[in-house]
Amino acid sequence: MLYFNIMNIIDTHVHSAFSFDGEHSPREMIEKAIEMGLYALTFTDHIDVSNYYGSHYRQSELMPLGAAEIPPLKDEYKDRINIGFGAELGQFVHEPALSRKLIADFGFDFVIGATHEVRGHEDFYYLDYHEQNIPELLRLYFNETLEMVQTADIDVIGHLTYFLRYITGRDGIVVDLNEYTENIRNIFKIAAGRGIGLEINTGGLRKQGYGKADPGLEYVRMFKEAGGEIITIGSDAHRIQDIAANFKEGAEIAKAAGFKRTAYYEKRKPVFVELE
Ligand SMILES: [Zn+2]
Ligand SMILES: [Zn+2]
Repeated sequence: MLYFNIMNIIDTHVHSAFSFDGEHSPREMIEKAIEMGLYALTFTDHIDVSNYYGSHYRQSELMPLGAAEIPPLKDEYKDRINIGFGAELGQFVHEPALSRKLIADFGFDFVIGATHEVRGHEDFYYLDYHEQNIPELLRLYFNETLEMVQTADIDVIGHLTYFLRYITGRDGIVVDLNEYTENIRNIFKIAAGRGIGLEINTGGLRKQGYGKADPGLEYVRMFKEAGGEIITIGSDAHRIQDIAANFKEGAEIAKAAGFKRTAYYEKRKPVFVELE
């Protein structure tokens, strides 16, 4: 085990320009991370598989480019920072065979399992919640997340409460998640039993009108109570300015939930780092 006392500087969720919505090259992001004193930085560019848009949308050209460019940088920078080559894989359960093939083909260090959309619907980002049946969407969301932790080859559950960024943060609709508590507890128990971790995604903390981590403390605590042992903290930066943003708050949530360490991944195995 690795003991390291400045936990704020392990960012396990960043997007480079090899994501359709990323701004900076991997090298620019690494240079910035070194300047900031980061200990580890994991690239998790998007692969979203989907029934809605047709298989393997968004990343068909970009991910192979990232796979050619990022792994050599791990070696080039190894004396200065621990670079990881990962992916944020959306909707594994929509295309399980394709998802498994992509994971195998690219040889990732780390795979975040994300649910950006549910079957038959667009990404939560694109929906107008004044016109949606929100309880139905959330029922589908938690069912698909359960299916993901039961079947998918992922390392952590990414931004569990992603949809709140848009339903509440953008469209101003408050939703009561209490009716999903049992579903969420079940998701956590199964994830914990399969060695799947939970991400504390700090991206929402810097979103105007939202200002929350995904998920917040009550769910991180519930994950711990369900036997969860692995927590990662990720900024979801899509540009250098957001690398490790709001990490102090992310670490506080992990500690308040009872976690003593966080992790990043190498070759799909967690490397634990003590939370100070
Ligand atoms: Zn995402
Ligand atoms: Zn992301």
